[in-house]
Amino acid sequence: MKFHVLTLFPEMVLQGLNTSILGRAQENGLISLHAVDIRDYTLDKHGKVDDYPYGGGAGMLIQAQPVYDAYQAVAAGKRLRTIYVTPQGKTFNQRMAEEFAGEEELVFLCGHYEGIDERVLEEIVTDNVSIGDYVLTGGELPAMVMIDAIARLVPGVLNNETSARTESFYNDLLEYPQYSRPALWHGKSVPDVLLSGNHKEINKWRRERSVERTAAVRPDLYARYQAKEKAILSLGHHKREHIHMMELLRRGNGELLYHKDENVMLYDRECGACFLTASTPEAGEKMTAALLSGSCPLPEAPRWFVVCQDFLADFIQEAFGFRIFHQCCQACYTRKEPLLVRHKDIRRLDEGAKGYFLENYPYGDEGYFMDRIASGFLYGAFVEGRPVGFIGLHDDGSMGMLYVEEAYRGKGLGASLEAYLINRLRELDWTPYCHVFSENEASKNLQEKLGLYLSGDTIWWLGREED
Ligand code: SAM
Repeated sequence: MKFHVLTLFPEMVLQGLNTSILGRAQENGLISLHAVDIRDYTLDKHGKVDDYPYGGGAGMLIQAQPVYDAYQAVAAGKRLRTIYVTPQGKTFNQRMAEEFAGEEELVFLCGHYEGIDERVLEEIVTDNVSIGDYVLTGGELPAMVMIDAIARLVPGVLNNETSARTESFYNDLLEYPQYSRPALWHGKSVPDVLLSGNHKEINKWRRERSVERTAAVRPDLYARYQAKEKAILSLGHHKREHIHMMELLRRGNGELLYHKDENVMLYDRECGACFLTASTPEAGEKMTAALLSGSCPLPEAPRWFVVCQDFLADFIQEAFGFRIFHQCCQACYTRKEPLLVRHKDIRRLDEGAKGYFLENYPYGDEGYFMDRIASGFLYGAFVEGRPVGFIGLHDDGSMGMLYVEEAYRGKGLGASLEAYLINRLRELDWTPYCHVFSENEASKNLQEKLGLYLSGDTIWWLGREED
């Protein structure tokens, strides 16, 4: 990911972001940081970039021309997402960091003095973002704060992929308390459960502490968390049909758009899908109408609608012009015991497997492969050191992409791959599930053999006609 920073103090930005994790991420080519001195672009022969504001008032303003030319030099004819860091913007938060982390290139514009001539802001800025309700002398520190928060979400920047998943704000909860050696310090001992080695109990304890802490200090976050928990409860009345929506909410990926009784609508930015379920056609019609009229706004134009009832599939086709791409049944693993994995050589795939994956998985392109690798959930089965099959987690959180080479079929490799993935997901306290094409009897048999439960009803995936 590329960051460009337009600033009067490039060395400040470079020095601030060149150390530790972000320094390493730059060395490894995961991110690049380009600080552009606005002063280099002034046409004033004395290098001046500021002037008095028309109408009078305190302080100086950065003029439009050098900012515009600096931007043009960076954008080189492209329209880049450009963030003006300003106390007048929307307050930066983790959700925005996640959204910005999805961009390939970002421009940050740092003001100084009293700010920047409004006219150039109108021409180049796409987002106004603040770091809080206070005024700093310049935009460099805010830009650095945002770049740090965004860059650490870029796949590979943090070497422990799960850490972003347990940190504060993930799933609207603050992080639980943490302890390190020694077990006893100043007469205070570490909670016993953390020394027990029982990961299920540890996860449970951590979740409870997170909830407790959030309720105590961040009632705003806690209210959002509670709303999601209530939706999960309603969805749980028909768990096999709704496990995908329940898991999206539990794993912190789903944004709750609407919930009333058993009618739920949520949006997942990662896969760009809006998920709906409705108990009656009337309720479904109301939800579709709310989406259409904007009274229940979608965070962005969806690439998919995933719906649980055929009447919803009809409404969405009519209202949005989407068409049915997949008709699936849902399978979920809700048993307590881990599964036996017979094939012993199963491990995470890395970039080296790109060619193999693309050759054998017709629905994914290079971007999807890299994305799945970065998610940490793409596994291969190896025989004599080479992959002979794979499985992974799709961007919507379902298991899939199962492939086994012809010569190795019928030997239980597919079952081993899926059992392995199920065990990994269970370690995270997730409920593994997959969407099986309704006509794929072989896959349904495999799911049942592994002990997954199949949903009675169909899940419909709708996409745009042109996709
Ligand atoms: N006159 C401006 C106003 O009242 O909105 C404040 C200008 S401030 C002194 C100079 C620059 O610092 C701003 O242009 C902006 O880039 C940056 N800045 C100051 N406070 C900020 C904040 N809370 N968040 C983001 N940027 C900030």
